[in-house]
Amino acid sequence: MTMYLMLFRQGQSAVSAMLSAIGGMYEDNLYLSTLYEYLETPVPPSIGIAQRGAKPDDGIRFEQVSFTYPGAGEPALHDINLHIRPGESLALVGQNGSGKTTLIKLLTRLYSPDSGRILLDGTDLRDWDESTLLQRIGVIFQDFARYQMRVGENVGAGDVSHFEDAARWREASDKGMASEFIDSLPAGFETQLGKWFKDGRELSGGQWQKIALARAFMRSRADILVLDEPTAAMDAAAEATIFEHFRELAGNRIAILISHRFSTVRMADQIIVIQDGRIVEHGSHEQLMALGGHYAHLFSLQAQGYR
Ligand code: ADP
Repeated sequence: MTMYLMLFRQGQSAVSAMLSAIGGMYEDNLYLSTLYEYLETPVPPSIGIAQRGAKPDDGIRFEQVSFTYPGAGEPALHDINLHIRPGESLALVGQNGSGKTTLIKLLTRLYSPDSGRILLDGTDLRDWDESTLLQRIGVIFQDFARYQMRVGENVGAGDVSHFEDAARWREASDKGMASEFIDSLPAGFETQLGKWFKDGRELSGGQWQKIALARAFMRSRADILVLDEPTAAMDAAAEATIFEHFRELAGNRIAILISHRFSTVRMADQIIVIQDGRIVEHGSHEQLMALGGHYAHLFSLQAQGYR
């Protein structure tokens, strides 16, 4: 009896060990399935070869562009028409979910429009050589990456061919107005960031955003600069100074800004108000104020808060 009892016990523990091993395997597989899903994402090969546009200095044109995300019911953008010339700045205004980021994603060719076309210097984005096109665009999205690396490398990530170039880090940080706070860190550009490391420092939201801005300025060859709400965690004065600075540096470049702060938005040459994926108003600050529509309402609403 004793022997059978012991055998039964041993069998029981073997079965439970087997079950927990199977459970563990299933769990690991779930983690890996994300990787496989990513690896299987179809990426259409780039067929474009254009290195230069047909009409240099024409800037960016959207012609009747519509786009629906794969699997989504409603289109995210409807019949968008706009033209931005080199040297101009454009601000996008609209509620969350109105399609502002989607417009930037189409411009950076992360997605292709379902209908209509986007032209850069008179040539369709699809006909551009992909790496030439990407070199011309510098974007900071609102959910930019916060690398657990040194400060300098976080800035250098903006242009991988100059990842370790300390002189370029300095230059980009000056433009992104990050130098002052970086110099106040214990080891300057060599400071380790992130809590994964023993001596890693964590930065405030506004400080991370300054690093992200500096990263955008690493792309010195980019003549289209896009800031998608990267200054939301900064104070209003810092945001206004940065945008002013951004416009000065932009020179003959195209600057596109998404912001909810009208004090900054008003400085842009063109302002576009997007609602549910459609452009509802378009013009300069003065024109839109004179129009007395949605923009004028939102502007005075925000201005009232400061009175
Ligand atoms: P905004 O930048 O103005 O806040 P977005 O351009 O991010 O707005 O989003 C526009 C619309 O597209 C929203 O309704 C959002 O839910 C939808 N959307 C955004 N990203 C995706 C995605 N990857 N897949 C499906 N729908 C998306």
